[in-house]
Amino acid sequence: MKKICQNCLIEKGRLPYVDQASDFREIKIENGICNLCQTFQKNFSQQRLHEELQGFLAEKNTGKYDVILALSGGKDSFTALYLAKKELDLNVLAFTYQNGFIPEKVIRQSKKICQKLNVDFVIKERSLQKSLDHYLNCQDYSLSKNFDFCSLCSQNISAYSIKLMKEHDTFRLITGDNCYESISPYVSAIRRYKPFGYKRETITINLPFALRVTKRQQEKILQKIGWKNPKISKYSSNCQIPNLIEKKFIEINGFHSEYGYLQKEIRSGFYTREEGEKFQKKTTSIFFSL
Ligand SMILES: [Zn+2]
Repeated sequence: MKKICQNCLIEKGRLPYVDQASDFREIKIENGICNLCQTFQKNFSQQRLHEELQGFLAEKNTGKYDVILALSGGKDSFTALYLAKKELDLNVLAFTYQNGFIPEKVIRQSKKICQKLNVDFVIKERSLQKSLDHYLNCQDYSLSKNFDFCSLCSQNISAYSIKLMKEHDTFRLITGDNCYESISPYVSAIRRYKPFGYKRETITINLPFALRVTKRQQEKILQKIGWKNPKISKYSSNCQIPNLIEKKFIEINGFHSEYGYLQKEIRSGFYTREEGEKFQKKTTSIFFSL
């Protein structure tokens, strides 16, 4: 029988790429709890997380917008948008990167909710082909293993968010991630980065995690703003690509592309263990079977 963490359901041995930024090279399980969960519990402080958010909000800004928000159109980024606008009263510029695989109904819904929340919204269209060509021509990479297809879009989203920050003279970015950004030396919701040629450091915050939003709270928020699941794939609530690459990804890597991320969300407190287990069963039986 496979050894699984009793807290986050991660499996012994395999290190999912979603946590490769941490110091860990492999998952070890001691007394039923994995090394990532042990580190999370040791390094987590609610007070520190609160201070992090306060620090993010207190930074002086000169542009029209307080923050740029990466709006995929899915449930997590809309939760972040609601929190930024309604809970924190920030002046937000939301943007969606249209990679060609985000259905029109997702874009329509995004426009409608942004209008309702009185949030300015822009769309950046850029075909994924250019990124893919660049990737395939780069000798340092290999398509055969650890090919995280979503990273191609992440790179474009990151580049475009920096462009918007420059244009609007802001340096703060909000994402809809329900999990920590880093786990050591302390658990943090924030990433700092100084883009080449930009006068100052940019600060990105995983807002739902910074506010410790749970799955249940998210459901209430989505109901409030009228967000409906566009039902385009089992895992993604905005993009068709995960559905298209799922089978091949498992074949090449031996695990599901969501493996590790769900566990990270459980570890971060978004899902209870029971909810996580239910989600895992509902979506696929492949997670642990390969
Ligand atoms: Zn764990």
